[in-house]
Amino acid sequence: MDDIHLFLAHAVRLEAEAARRFEELADAMHTFGNAEVEAFFRQMATYSREHLAEAQTRSGFRPLPALAPDEYSWPDGTSPETAAWAGVDGLMSVADALQLALQSEQAGREFYAVIAAGSRNPRVKSMANEFAAEEAEHVSALERLIERCAA
Ligand code: ZN
Repeated sequence: MDDIHLFLAHAVRLEAEAARRFEELADAMHTFGNAEVEAFFRQMATYSREHLAEAQTRSGFRPLPALAPDEYSWPDGTSPETAAWAGVDGLMSVADALQLALQSEQAGREFYAVIAAGSRNPRVKSMANEFAAEEAEHVSALERLIERCAA
């Protein structure tokens, strides 16, 4: 992916979806009475929205192209739809919620990493690398929380 605005349009879509999922997961944790995981998910939703705003700012406030569903070109397995999102209705436990969040963040990290590796545009490459590093931090934070919750 070499067009910076096309890349940013994908990033905005990915982060908006991530924020929506984290809000949904946080609400589910509220229902489960798990305040720690709820707070964590709310924080992750905030990060996603910050990331979204950053992507919009990086576009120089030039309106990003509004893409039809078939105009997105997600590398294999990285579409926000492909992270086996059963939705919170299918949630059986806090552990399930954490796994769902982990899969979603891993798909995000993968998306940015694949773009960074494949792009011929140095701006896209460096921005995607930066975003991949942030997603990698989210993945580690989730892994630490999963370990803590399992202990
Ligand atoms: Zn993230």
